[in-house]
Amino acid sequence: MTLLSVQHLAKSFGGVTAARDVSFLLERGELLAIIGPNGAGKSTVFNMVGGQLRPDRGAVLLDGQDITNTAPQKRFRLGVGRTFQVAQTFLSMNVAENVQMALLSHAKETGGLWSPVRMRHRDEAMNLLKQVGMEEAADNPCSALAYGDVKRVELAIALAGQPKLLLMDEPTAGMAARERSELMDLTSTIADTKGIGVLFTEHDMDVVFGHAERVIVLVRGQIIAAGTPDEIRHHDEVRRAYLGDDHALDRPKGVSPS
Ligand code: ADP
Ligand code: MG
Repeated sequence: MTLLSVQHLAKSFGGVTAARDVSFLLERGELLAIIGPNGAGKSTVFNMVGGQLRPDRGAVLLDGQDITNTAPQKRFRLGVGRTFQVAQTFLSMNVAENVQMALLSHAKETGGLWSPVRMRHRDEAMNLLKQVGMEEAADNPCSALAYGDVKRVELAIALAGQPKLLLMDEPTAGMAARERSELMDLTSTIADTKGIGVLFTEHDMDVVFGHAERVIVLVRGQIIAAGTPDEIRHHDEVRRAYLGDDHALDRPKGVSPS
C-alpha cells in the first residue's frame, strides 16, 4: 500500500491561492523533494500533510487511511513525524537527555508510559544517537554542539517517534555545503534502512539533485513538473520557472556555490 497519498489539495489565504489541486504519492523508503520559488506553496502543502493546516479541498491518506482532518498529535501517533528545531529549553540538557525526552513523550503518546519502553530509554537513546553518528557526544550539553551536530540530534529526536513518514521543511537551512550533503546522506541511509518515506523541501539544488529520488516542482501553488532529478533538471518549464537561476540547475552534483 502507498505510504502517503496526497489528493487534489487546495488552500487559499484570503485572495492568495497557496495550493491548487496538488496530488502526489510517496512510497516507503523514498526521498521526495518539493522545490519551487519562495512563496510557491511548499510549506503550505507540507503543513497540510503534517496537520498544522486544514485544506480547503482534497485529501491526505496515510497507509490508505484518510487523515485529512486528523489533528497533528494524532498524526504523530499514526507515524507522521517531522523535524523541529531543538527548542531553547532543550539546550540546557545534554544530547542523550534530549533524545530520552522524545522517547518518553512518544511512549506517553502511545499510552505506554509504564511499558518496558521507559526502562529502555537510555539504551534506546544511545541506539538512536549511534544511528545519526552522535553517540560519542551523548553526554555533551546541546548548547555546546556545532550546528550540523544539532541537526543530527534533531533527526534522532524525530526518529524517537518511530515515524513511517518523516517531514523535513528546509532541513539544511543555515548549514555549510558539506554539512548539508552529510545530513542528507544520513537521512537517505536511515530512510532506506528503516523504510521511512521522507518528504522534504529544499532550496539548495545540489542537495535536491544529489539526494532526492523524485522531485515535485511547485509554482504558484501548482505542480508544474514531477519526476526523477534528471527529468526535472532537463524540464523546459522548470528551467523557465527558475530562469535567472539556471546555473543552479546546471551545476554538477556535489559542487556548491560559495
Ligand atoms: P513556500 O514555503 O513555498 O515559500 P508558503 O507555503 O509559505 O510558500 O506560502 C505560499 C503563499 O501563501 C505565499 O503567497 C504566502 O504569502 C501565503 N501564505 C502562507 N501562509 C499563510 C498564512 N498563514 N496566511 C496568509 N498567507 C499565507
Ligand atoms: Mg516555506
